Amino acid sequence: MNYVRQFGGGSSEGRAKDKALLGGKGANLAEMASLGLPVPPGFTITTEVCRFVMEHGAGTYPDGLEAEVAAALARVEELTKTTFGDSSQPLLVSVRSGAPASMPGMMDTILNLGLNDTTVAALAAQSGNPRFAWDCYRRFVAMYGEVVLGVTSAEEHEPEPFDTILDEVKRKHRANRDQDLTEAALREAVALFKAEVLRVTGAPFPDDVRTQLWGAIGAVFQSWNNPRADVYRKLHNIPASMGTAVNVQVMVFGNLGDDCATGVAFTRNPATGSAELYGEFLINAQGEDVVAGIRTPEPINELARTLPAAHAELVRVAKLLEDHFRDMQDLEFTIQNGQLFMLQTRAGKRTGKAMIKVAVDLVAEGKLGHREAVMRIDPAKLDEVLHPTIDPKARPPAIGKGLPASPGAAIGRVVFTATAAEEWANKGERVLLVRTDTSPEDIHGMKAAVGILTARGGMTSHSAVVARGMGKCCVTACTSLRVDAAKKTAVFAGGALGSGKELRINEGDTLTLDGSTGEVFQGSAPLVPAQLGSELGQLMTWVDEIRTLHVRTNADTPTDARTARSFGAEGIGLCRTEHMFFQPERILAVREMILAADEAGRRTALAKILPMQRGDFAELFRVMDGLPVTIRLLDPPLHEFLPHTPQEIDEVAQQLGKPAQVIAAKVSELTEANPMLGHRGCRLAITYPEIYEIQAQAIAEAALEVNKAGVKVVPEIMIPLVMVPEELRRLRELVARTVDRVLAGSGITYTIGTMIELPRACVVADRIAEHADFFSFGTNDLTQTTFGLSRDDAGRFLPTYLDRGVLPADPFVAIDPEGVGALIELGVRGGRATKPGLKVGICGEHGGEPSSVEFCHRAGFDYVSCSPFRVPIARVAAARAALASEARK
Ligand code: ADP
Ligand code: MG
Ligand code: MG
Repeated sequence: MNYVRQFGGGSSEGRAKDKALLGGKGANLAEMASLGLPVPPGFTITTEVCRFVMEHGAGTYPDGLEAEVAAALARVEELTKTTFGDSSQPLLVSVRSGAPASMPGMMDTILNLGLNDTTVAALAAQSGNPRFAWDCYRRFVAMYGEVVLGVTSAEEHEPEPFDTILDEVKRKHRANRDQDLTEAALREAVALFKAEVLRVTGAPFPDDVRTQLWGAIGAVFQSWNNPRADVYRKLHNIPASMGTAVNVQVMVFGNLGDDCATGVAFTRNPATGSAELYGEFLINAQGEDVVAGIRTPEPINELARTLPAAHAELVRVAKLLEDHFRDMQDLEFTIQNGQLFMLQTRAGKRTGKAMIKVAVDLVAEGKLGHREAVMRIDPAKLDEVLHPTIDPKARPPAIGKGLPASPGAAIGRVVFTATAAEEWANKGERVLLVRTDTSPEDIHGMKAAVGILTARGGMTSHSAVVARGMGKCCVTACTSLRVDAAKKTAVFAGGALGSGKELRINEGDTLTLDGSTGEVFQGSAPLVPAQLGSELGQLMTWVDEIRTLHVRTNADTPTDARTARSFGAEGIGLCRTEHMFFQPERILAVREMILAADEAGRRTALAKILPMQRGDFAELFRVMDGLPVTIRLLDPPLHEFLPHTPQEIDEVAQQLGKPAQVIAAKVSELTEANPMLGHRGCRLAITYPEIYEIQAQAIAEAALEVNKAGVKVVPEIMIPLVMVPEELRRLRELVARTVDRVLAGSGITYTIGTMIELPRACVVADRIAEHADFFSFGTNDLTQTTFGLSRDDAGRFLPTYLDRGVLPADPFVAIDPEGVGALIELGVRGGRATKPGLKVGICGEHGGEPSSVEFCHRAGFDYVSCSPFRVPIARVAAARAALASEARK
């Protein structure tokens, strides 16, 4: 067959590796069936058909598909001794979405398809359980009505029409829970559902099972393009061209009685990574009930008591699948009359913490090698474990407690709808999305929020899974919480826990969530910085064995430098001297220097700055203790240091004992139309050489002082914004003369290099290298100047470019390989043509971004330099880059 692959019933036409064609769900169903696991038989319509439909329009299918589906259906009928639409032995199927990349809950699935007034009677007779048959029927009509026929609520916080109807039926029949609905009540629900379909769509609910099937297939393909799937794809960089597969699978029933259940399990704890079967189930229910977060399910350990045989079988299958895939699995299962059926397996989404622990544990268990373990680490996800957590010594009393669904701490202002979350976040607010339960439609709000709190749902509900995937703090099943989204208010029933009072919160109030304990606090709780745990330490030893690229840090202060060293930085790649100028006691001297009328005046002021700078540099040298320290000489336009408002000008005038008009005149004289391209960088020192001279002297004196105290020093002096070789030739001479005078006879060696941050510098890099001991690519400015795009103004239109796909990625986040990257390669080639051993590094924000680190590795860099908290990320990215280039060889 061309477009259809069957699975189950003793054979399978696909395998796990066929994800691109069969989607993850279909490929793994085929793999599980081929391993002899209990998988209800079915077939997969390939992603190729989805691409065909996207191209030709909804409802248009490739020739021959219909016949293939009919043949595959006939095989399933034969295997199960049932017939689709039959009045005595009817076949019921699920129609399930499943893309190549896992997108939990973002697309649609329809269960119990094949039911109509005739087949429901057959199902009742055959099972001897009419209540069950009608329970399936009401589920089917509601699901099909929503997904295929579009009978849904118009507004986001309004309940779905079928839910409203069901609630009325429950009230009328005095049924508290879905399980308490009698056959009569369920019959009534089906009739009301169908009436609603007729009212809304103007057409009766389709009775013909083949119409139902093709309606569902079409809707699942269309769900590939629904808004939430679109948001999810953008968030996770999944190309829209992939398409989804459709799986048609024989139904098994978890709602057939008390020896039936449905559930979700992880082979390890997805929040912490600890090695325990972890999951949730509901007795007498269907799959959607667990993952949709409607009922709060029971923990999997309970299953060992309620259905021990099925639990034992699940434990066996879980281990088998984890060993087979050599990774933590996320399983979906159903138990029908005590018998286990597997409905899905995939690599489990996990938190950064769990990602590290699982990889390290699998190595310890002998299932993975060091290199494979490193390849399992998503460097960007390490970010989560490096974030601050709530100070354990200063925890305020909690006002609520739920399940710790996704760890980390989140402080934000409360909003009650996904749309509000988005609006507030766009205004720059940090928000917490607080909901009764979240549905996949809330994805855009979850993305905008810093944390998510829900009253219902479990650890495996879609919102929990999606939050973990995004690395967002999430607390679910906070049962004391009651949310009224329409009134924009909520109540914590317990008040401050144990006080017995009610605590009301309104939109805009601040709360703190602890995703590691499930606790909720009022206001903002105190945070403490994260520590590298022992597992991450272990992983990092493997990372450091593999990588060849060195990792340095951008640090302006001794505190930053210390943090970075604790994260494994091997030097300072960028120390911005100007940041030292802004402290109140220094800014005055800096202003005096800028406002001086002549060189003599500037030198007087610089003499005051010299000892301060010397102290700063000495401290950095001491902290770095023999590691290289790259110090960039003054870079920003001078007017950045001047006062701007009339009030500030008056103040400075007083401090300096000068008339305010003089100061104001100087300020306006120094104001530039385009300071980014103005009098800054080494241009300052071409006009006022004494500035760099004094800075060089401060560096040299600091080096000498620290060296005398027995600490090795490795100063690297860096000259910014060079556009022509002559600039560097002159300034190098100036700096070297000054430094040599101080260091003569000390035996201290130092180097002088330059930042490459202008396209012209890349082009003439061979000649610049004649005067440079090293190059450090300043990719922030290089990106601005290559694109002709000011970083400060790009906010107006860059988001649109990204949203509409005009640019594939933000070039200020990830190095643009074809433009900026090409210039960097040109620069490296030019520089090394002149000096084969030229040391090359990067000090822009890109230095801590995984794809850019990989670029730097390929381009032959010696090091990357990034902010302290990104050092571990860069180390992992460097190791993965080394492994990737080995694999290419
Ligand atoms: P999603 O991608 O949103 O998880 P699925 O296709 O996995 O959607 O379906 C959701 C749930 O529906 C599954 O977890 C499973 O419990 C239930 N389900 C799907 N197909 C069947 C089936 N053939 N028999 C019984 N339950 C099913
Ligand atoms: Mg699923
Ligand atoms: Mg710069």
